[in-house]
Amino acid sequence: MKGVRPDGTPITVMAVDDSPVTRKMIKKALEPEGFLVVGEAGNGKEAVELYLNLQPDIITMDITMPVMDGLEAAAAIKDINPGQKILMLSAMGDNDLLNEARARGINDFCSKPFKPEQIIEKILIILQSRGETY
Ligand SMILES: [Mg+2]
Repeated sequence: MKGVRPDGTPITVMAVDDSPVTRKMIKKALEPEGFLVVGEAGNGKEAVELYLNLQPDIITMDITMPVMDGLEAAAAIKDINPGQKILMLSAMGDNDLLNEARARGINDFCSKPFKPEQIIEKILIILQSRGETY
């Protein structure tokens, strides 16, 4: 169970994507490993609002979404909590975009379509970088 800490508590995740199908795929990838998806948002504005209550260990963030895109939402969340860990998930992966994502504090990037083990591995690497061990 890669999504459970040695003390038995799950790693909490907020899944942000305007596609309900993709959100379902993220849940399906993570929950069998014990991760807990504590919230889902369909656009960046919803994500920022929900974030204030949830404060998950990790956020998976789509880029292209209506109302507020993932880059704006990531920047707004980093303003609230500069230490928040964010994994960007997107079909778009050109260098300009990746550089902009990094400039906004996104920790890592996973291209769509993704395999379950790819997101799991990236999440674990991101969380290890803050000094926790899993
Ligand atoms: Mg999208």
